Amino acid sequence: MPRLTVFLAPSLLASVCAAAVSAQTVVRTADPAKRGLKESDFPRTIKVADNVYTYEDFHAGPEKFTTTDLFVVTDAGVLVADGQGSLPETTGLVDAIAKVTAQPIKYVVICSDHGDHSAGNAAFPPGVKYLIHPTSKAVLARGSGWKPPADAELIDNARTLTVGREEIQVLFLGRAHTGGDLSVFLPGRKILFLSETYLNRVFPAMRSAYPSEWLRALDRAEAMQADIYIAGHGFTETGPVSREEIRAYHKALEAVIAEATRLHAAAVPVDDAIRKANWGEYASWTLASSQGPIAVRRVYDELDGTLR
Ligand SMILES: [Zn+2]
Repeated sequence: MPRLTVFLAPSLLASVCAAAVSAQTVVRTADPAKRGLKESDFPRTIKVADNVYTYEDFHAGPEKFTTTDLFVVTDAGVLVADGQGSLPETTGLVDAIAKVTAQPIKYVVICSDHGDHSAGNAAFPPGVKYLIHPTSKAVLARGSGWKPPADAELIDNARTLTVGREEIQVLFLGRAHTGGDLSVFLPGRKILFLSETYLNRVFPAMRSAYPSEWLRALDRAEAMQADIYIAGHGFTETGPVSREEIRAYHKALEAVIAEATRLHAAAVPVDDAIRKANWGEYASWTLASSQGPIAVRRVYDELDGTLR
């Protein structure tokens, strides 16, 4: 199993040591402070395997946690999965890629159409090929932010690319966090980047989610038995930790849906249910206070048949 390597300035060597701690001691959290990291440690590039990297920068807002992108370097160019939330932040990603390789960015996969992963896409070089689910293309086309170009390739199920010597699969595992959720799988290395289908220690965020279908998408992801699962929010974990954490996230999503379903079955009106919901251990997860009420409403919508 390849170890994670963090590229940082020599003055930040202490952080490299912190990131290299063993699976037993790594703190399971999305909170950089609890993890033993400083805000100045970010953004950062992490080597996941030879020619496979993640890039983590902070999500906007008062609660600090990372938005995480994947990039794969080949001798025929670079494939990027997801960007950051603004032009300067995605420029940071493009610059970080240039520090690792002279290869140009050839492909950008829009795994999540939400602005925190796509609003900075104008920073990618002109002429890159975008891959996107039809649902996400429609969402971005009618939004007010970045819009995909007319020649973006639509992926409604699966597409295998061979870039240089790297086989790269772009997969739709089902509607989950956005409805157009794409994932990127490297079959030769069993690395699966799930974008927002997997939120590592971040409370299930359901503004545009399909709660029960999201569980099925996670079933499919876990059935693939990847060696490394990478989340769209939260830290990049080593293989064994990543497998434990996708399981933990799957359980969290089940628990949140079960709690909202229990309140719905007891005929508790939605506004009361938001106050009464008991999230147990998940109340301490990043974004629980802001995303809990949204999750209750969304599960109620699904149970009432009014999910749009
Ligand atoms: Zn997001």
